[in-house]
Amino acid sequence: MKFFADRMLGKLAKYLRILGFDVEYFADIEESKIIDMINKSDRILLTKDIALFTRVENKDKAYLLKSDSWRSQLKSVVKRFNISSKDIRCFSRCIVCNTKLEPTSKESVRGKVPEYTYSTHENFYICPKCGRIYWKGTHVEHMEEKITEVLGNMR
Ligand SMILES: [Zn+2]
Repeated sequence: MKFFADRMLGKLAKYLRILGFDVEYFADIEESKIIDMINKSDRILLTKDIALFTRVENKDKAYLLKSDSWRSQLKSVVKRFNISSKDIRCFSRCIVCNTKLEPTSKESVRGKVPEYTYSTHENFYICPKCGRIYWKGTHVEHMEEKITEVLGNMR
């Protein structure tokens, strides 16, 4: 399942990426380009904009969100698309640029992550596109807590 989140849904896009979903998001893009992309790809438009929603002819390819809170938005998306734990690959995708992460050696991140992180972690992942390095630190635990709070124990 691939998505395209409109510019009002940045936070939702971030959390869907954390769950491992392929979500395109641009803070600034023309409406006609969005419609074009939805028509030409297998992405589903997630939007809060009723005018934009109306412009998508195939309603299987667009979902109109009503809530302003990313928590309820995430819940609605999970329900609407029957997302279950088997669809979820937490922390497999770069939150910033949507690229799939690759495992990288501990040696290769020396000097690129904080000293304390380096000495207390064994597993590191890198985004091959933007070079951002990921590890399962406390920030990840915080996000996992937030997600569990929203989705229950479905993971
Ligand atoms: Zn990246």
